[in-house]
Amino acid sequence: MNSHLFIPFVFASILATSISAVAHFFPNASSIPPSLLPTTPDGKWDTFKNLTGCHAGQKIDGVAKLKQYFNYFGYINNNNSSINFTDEFDDNLKSAIETYQLNFNLNTTGQLDEPTLNQIVRPRCGVADIVNGTSSMNSGKTTTTSHIHAVKHYTFFPNAPRWPAEKTDLTYAFLPDNGLSDSVKAVFSRAFQKWAAVIPLTFTETSSYGSADIRIGFYRGDHGDGEPFDGVLGTLAHAFSPPTGRLHLDLAENWVVDGDVTSSGAVDLESVAVHELGHVLGLGHSSEREAIMYPTISTGTKKVDLAGDDVEGIQVLYGSNPNYNGSATATTTSQERDTNGSGSRFVAQPWWLWILLAVALTL
Ligand SMILES: [Zn+2]
Ligand SMILES: [Zn+2]
Repeated sequence: MNSHLFIPFVFASILATSISAVAHFFPNASSIPPSLLPTTPDGKWDTFKNLTGCHAGQKIDGVAKLKQYFNYFGYINNNNSSINFTDEFDDNLKSAIETYQLNFNLNTTGQLDEPTLNQIVRPRCGVADIVNGTSSMNSGKTTTTSHIHAVKHYTFFPNAPRWPAEKTDLTYAFLPDNGLSDSVKAVFSRAFQKWAAVIPLTFTETSSYGSADIRIGFYRGDHGDGEPFDGVLGTLAHAFSPPTGRLHLDLAENWVVDGDVTSSGAVDLESVAVHELGHVLGLGHSSEREAIMYPTISTGTKKVDLAGDDVEGIQVLYGSNPNYNGSATATTTSQERDTNGSGSRFVAQPWWLWILLAVALTL
């Protein structure tokens, strides 16, 4: 092929690939263009609110979808994934709702009341609350200890896997195709620090993606691990138990990198990164609302500090960092939402793309 034709061809191919992989990163919530914000406050799960008041014995459009939701997060045990759920509110669904209510500290009514649906529609982590039918969170606790102040809520994956004891420095790398900016990478560096401060592990970035212990990537939709992402809101990210080291985030979210996050539809990247790293290290979901490992996070919210529950849980797996002074604070800020979308959007564009563009234009 003639080189003058070849170079623009390569450029066009790379440009096409790059555009399809552009993630939405914003310095702050007010720079998100309104066109990118979801049309309903909680995205597609908002339609579940139409089921308010629905109870056992009824048959209503949308119940089948809700059963799929509960199946995905481990509340309806279904080994046969090809089974078609019906729109009937049956006993299985009632029992799933009761378990869910227990896990999220809601009144155990077994009904689709407003507080339950308001919790169900919140954006959340894609990791199941109940893994392989093993009850975790509140529903898995055998004793009622609500009268004791120091209730443990942290959980582990089945058989409590952790990174091997001889591995005290874990390396991490970013999916090269994402072409992430330094400011996005810095978010993860801060998130790693939250965990490194309390356990005797260190985390070091490496450019060698293939050999890194922890591999971080933003993906859109189906990305080959059987856990497809679902677009804006819904599931935000997921990660695998140790020593898998895979941490995936939904490319479609409006990720706020480090500025003000208080806007409907904006998702704070660091908050999600700290949570997912908890999974990478071996923690499951916690029923403690203040815990980093609580499964849901509202849009416009920043929650990046480990709670006592997170610290206790991770130290059961790894022990304490000798320099840890024993203080853990949980702060959640959710200020008034600002939906005024203006300002510029910055996206991940690899530097070599601009060089190629320059070369192509001079030909
Ligand atoms: Zn999670
Ligand atoms: Zn994935």
